[in-house]
Amino acid sequence: MQTHSPDDESSAPWGLSTQAVHAGEVPDPATKASSPNLVMSSTFLADPEASFSAEGSHGKDAYFYTRWANPTVSQLEQKLAALENAEAAMAFASGMAAVNALFFHCLKPGDHLLLGDVIYAAVSETANDLLAELGIEVTRVDTSDLDAVRAGIRDNTRLVYIESPCNPILRLTDIAAVAAIAHETGARLAVDSTFSTPVATRPIEFGADFVIHSLTKYLGGHGDAVGGALLGPTNDLAEVRRKAGIRMGGVISPFNAWLILRGMATLPLRMRAHEAAAVEVGQYLERHPVIDRVTYPGFESHPQFDLARRQMSNFSGMLTFQTERHAELPRLFAKHLQVIHYAVSLGHHRSLLFYIPTDEILRTSFSLTEAQESGYRDYAGDAIFRLSVGIEDPEDLCTDLEQAFAALP
Ligand SMILES: *Cc1c(COP(=O)(O)O)cnc(C)c1O
Repeated sequence: MQTHSPDDESSAPWGLSTQAVHAGEVPDPATKASSPNLVMSSTFLADPEASFSAEGSHGKDAYFYTRWANPTVSQLEQKLAALENAEAAMAFASGMAAVNALFFHCLKPGDHLLLGDVIYAAVSETANDLLAELGIEVTRVDTSDLDAVRAGIRDNTRLVYIESPCNPILRLTDIAAVAAIAHETGARLAVDSTFSTPVATRPIEFGADFVIHSLTKYLGGHGDAVGGALLGPTNDLAEVRRKAGIRMGGVISPFNAWLILRGMATLPLRMRAHEAAAVEVGQYLERHPVIDRVTYPGFESHPQFDLARRQMSNFSGMLTFQTERHAELPRLFAKHLQVIHYAVSLGHHRSLLFYIPTDEILRTSFSLTEAQESGYRDYAGDAIFRLSVGIEDPEDLCTDLEQAFAALP
């Protein structure tokens, strides 16, 4: 951790909450400011010897142009790397920019990507069109089934890409087991850990090579800034910075980086509150006569509760619920909810709820085999409501849901 001196490698093994507050935040040497500076500068006074080329090396002590690096963004990247126990991190303009940077880094025409079959919709759609156009082969597997993962690996598999818990059905993947399978043939494993956060799971400690985050979600935590991150080995990240950052240019604004940096300081605190509220709201929903099923990794009723306990030290704030009367509810929720926002996205301090009918998402976003579709339905039935439980008073969230349910005819 680099609290006071960027060169001091011998600091104590600080706890996660201390790191969330301090990692990456070096007091400004000129002003002695205790809080991180927001450096809204696109360019920096240059060394007259410096090269103009993207290949020119511009170290972190010599900022050059914000597409290369920026002091506020570097502070965010150091905090991210500290929390994920990663060698290096790079922040991006969005989670999707980080995902595509990883794809560009790991895959070229003729390579094979083994992709989780249920995955963030825009990633799945990218695999359907963009990667296909680039001549990259994609196979989808239910990565909770280790035999399917083993069978899906080919000689030219360069990357295995998973989410755990996956969006939107909250099915888990055993990261350590999949890492071992991927590494047998020299493929690398990337884990989109947006739903877990480093408070719950640090994929690199389970053997993953890369971690992806949508910083827009729990890490930023306040629903006010879009951002993304890719974490992994220093050598890989240096190349990613040159190609995806400097050349492709999907870098994050220092202002967004500053907002997310500030949000991350309270991540451990917020995750405890998200989890506690999710348990309370989940139990309320489980008791409710209109609700048929609640899926939450922290409940014994989750089909992978044992894996969840092994792999997650916080069960996060994401749950889904199912009801036969699903088609009537979106309109009632949008009209009657006063606290919970009927909106996409997740991980904000505010609770967010959205309706995901199974037939529709299978048609628009995934291209699955019959067995994979049936695996999706095992977790989602005909439709799920995805609830990102915020950090409001849990009893108010229950009251809010109750008055929407009461409006059912
Ligand atoms: C939101 C999300 C993304 C995409 O992130 P953006 O910041 O919206 O680009 C990727 N993966 C998961 C799991 C997400 O929830």
